Amino acid sequence: MRPYILAETNWNALKNENFELAILPWGATEAHNYHLPYSTDNIQADLIAAESARLAWDNGAKIIVLPTIPFGINTGQKDIYLDININPSTQFAILSDIIEVLNYQKIFKLLIFNGHGGNDFKPIVRELGLKYHNMFICISNWYQALDKTNYFDNPGEHADELETSLLLYLRPDLVLPIDKWGEGKDKKNKIKVFSEGWIWTERKWSQISEDTGIGNPKLATMEKGARYFHDVTIKISKLFCEICKADIENINE
Ligand SMILES: [Zn+2]
Repeated sequence: MRPYILAETNWNALKNENFELAILPWGATEAHNYHLPYSTDNIQADLIAAESARLAWDNGAKIIVLPTIPFGINTGQKDIYLDININPSTQFAILSDIIEVLNYQKIFKLLIFNGHGGNDFKPIVRELGLKYHNMFICISNWYQALDKTNYFDNPGEHADELETSLLLYLRPDLVLPIDKWGEGKDKKNKIKVFSEGWIWTERKWSQISEDTGIGNPKLATMEKGARYFHDVTIKISKLFCEICKADIENINE
């Protein structure tokens, strides 16, 4: 039983507990190329949050990891079989309910630990922050915590070398053999400026990638996954510790 994982701990341990920071991992349920499980984003968010929390807990951080929310925004993938979408308004409702409880119980720090590129919590956090002004709510995307090019030869965006390496390390039992891996080739918008990042439209996933992946996974290895996991959890655990210690009334210097 890990005392910093809510799903594993118990009332006996919690009835007199005072946590400083709640962490809410949030993933998605979606196809990941041919070879990775639909739960890839959940497995990664779950295990990276848990290991980072273990390191932070061992350094004295009073943190509690809430159960991972398994569905994310997949509006662009409604024609990919069994990609499950929940809308931004549903995410707002879920977060609103969770924050109401945390605020009432005086756990004033919440970190939304995001593991899915389609999730966009900023407008939600702005709106709920206005309502719950005692709360310090922040959002992290673990996949942006490190420079991927220091770990991977061919990093992409979805079910790529990074995600395949991580799953080979974390859940090799759920990864199909290499001859089943698709190339993760994606089609770009004919209007070239869409690649520049200052104009956006939602991509219809079935039209941009045959195997649903973006980024060729073929150079993925378990060793690359292990090295990345080690470094990313150390970095994130330091963040957890810092947020725990921070005086939220005096956060700026
Ligand atoms: Zn993913």
